[in-house]
Amino acid sequence: MVASSLSAVMAQRLVRVICPHCREEYEPEREYAGITLPPVLYRGRGCEKCFNLGSMGRIGIYEFLPIDSELCSMIIKQAPAGAIKEYAISRGMKTLREDGLTKAAAGITTIEEVLRVTQEDYADLPL
Ligand SMILES: [Zn+2]
Repeated sequence: MVASSLSAVMAQRLVRVICPHCREEYEPEREYAGITLPPVLYRGRGCEKCFNLGSMGRIGIYEFLPIDSELCSMIIKQAPAGAIKEYAISRGMKTLREDGLTKAAAGITTIEEVLRVTQEDYADLPL
């Protein structure tokens, strides 16, 4: 009953925002923890304005999953979470991690933050 009335599911995680006053660019390793990284990433050096934290506030990263009839029947059949996620990705769903990587490449947050909050989502998936 829940599955047939669902139209979409959204997931959100909060990541720290890099302090705009002490943000600096760096060139990361090409790959980290099996993920290909953008050529330039950002981090906060720490300054007076952020009390040496290097960050200021938080922002959400999101994953949006529209429920189609195939997904609806997978949910009803209680398919494993990994299978549902693989299907959603094959249908073009942008994952939490992808949204996080986009925000890291834009200098909004750090790669460490993105990996920290998305780690458990990938424990059972080859992504
Ligand atoms: Zn700062």
